[in-house]
Amino acid sequence: MSLNDRYSRQILFPGIGPEGQRRLADAQVAIVGCGATGACVAGLLARSGVGRLRIIDRDYVESSNLQRQVLFDEADAAESLPKAVAAARKIAAFNSEIQVDPQVADLTPANIDSLLNTDDTDLILDATDNFETRYLVNDFAVKHKRTWIYAAAVGSYAATMNVLPGKTACLSCIFPAHPQGTVETCDTAGILNAAVNLVGSLQAAEALKFLVGARDRMRRTLLSFDVWTNEQAEVAAARPRPDCATCGKQEFTYLAGKGRPQITLCGRNSVQIHERQRPVDFTEMTSRLKPHGTVKHNDFVLKFWRDPYELTLFPDGRAIIKGTTDTAVARSLYAKFIGS
Ligand SMILES: [Zn+2]
Repeated sequence: MSLNDRYSRQILFPGIGPEGQRRLADAQVAIVGCGATGACVAGLLARSGVGRLRIIDRDYVESSNLQRQVLFDEADAAESLPKAVAAARKIAAFNSEIQVDPQVADLTPANIDSLLNTDDTDLILDATDNFETRYLVNDFAVKHKRTWIYAAAVGSYAATMNVLPGKTACLSCIFPAHPQGTVETCDTAGILNAAVNLVGSLQAAEALKFLVGARDRMRRTLLSFDVWTNEQAEVAAARPRPDCATCGKQEFTYLAGKGRPQITLCGRNSVQIHERQRPVDFTEMTSRLKPHGTVKHNDFVLKFWRDPYELTLFPDGRAIIKGTTDTAVARSLYAKFIGS
C-alpha cells in the first residue's frame, strides 16, 4: 500500500496537501492519558499518518470503559491490559506504518522530563481526567515553550483550549485556582460517549493544524459545548494574562511537585498508590498472595482480589486499589500485602 493511496483523501484536502502530509509523517505527538479522549485522538492522529505517537497512561482496560473508549474491546478488558499497550496493538492493526510508543506510567514531576522529552516532542495533548495532571502539563509546556491542547468532558459537556505559550492564555490564565470540591467527575455525573469523542475530534483537528503549520487557523478561545442541551460558549483566550503565576511570573509549583496528593481515579471507586518505586516480580508476588485471596497476572499487570477490594499491581510497584476512596485504607492494604 503506497502512502499516497492510504492518505489520498486527506492529501486532497487543501489545508493538508502533499507537504502537510510529509510534515505529519515527521511529527511526534505525546498523548497524556488514554481513556475516551485519548483513545479517540490517538486513533484519529494514527489514521491521519502522524509519524510517531507516544501514549502515556497509568490505567488498565475495564468493561465499564467500552461504552466510550473506542480503541478497546472485550478481550482487552478480560485481560486487564494496560490502556497504552492495548491502544498500541489496535493502532498497529490499522496503521503499521507509524510508530507508537506505549508508556504505562502515571505522569509525575519526577518522570515528566523523560516522558514529554522536549528534544523530539512537537505537541502535547491532554487526555487526562484530572486537573492535577493538567496543571503539571501546563507548567512543563509553559516552561519549555511547547504547545499543548487542553480537553475535558464530563456528563454531556465538553471543553477544549489550545495553549501556545507566550502567544495565548495558558491554563492558569483561565483557571488560576485548582478547581476544588464541587467539580463533577465521571463518578458523579456519568459521561456520554458523544461528548468525549466530540472533544477528542476537535482536539485532533487543532493538532493537525498545528503540525502542518496552519497555526493562524488554530482556535484562540476556550470552547465548551453541551451535546444534550446544545448550549455552547467561547471564552477569549487569545492573550496571556500579565499577572498569571505560571506564564507571567514563571512559577512552576506543580512541576516542583509541592503537596502532590494521592490521586483518586475518575470513573470508579479507587485509589492509586505510587509513593514507592519498587520493581515487582509477578511470579514471586503471586505465590506470596495466593493464601490471602484470588490472584492472577500477565506480562503487564497482577490482579489480587480480597473481598471487598481489588488490587491491580504494575511491574514498577504502582498499584490501583478498587473498593475504597479512603487513602488510609488503600495505603494499609498496600503495606500489608505488597510491602512497606
Ligand atoms: Zn498563564
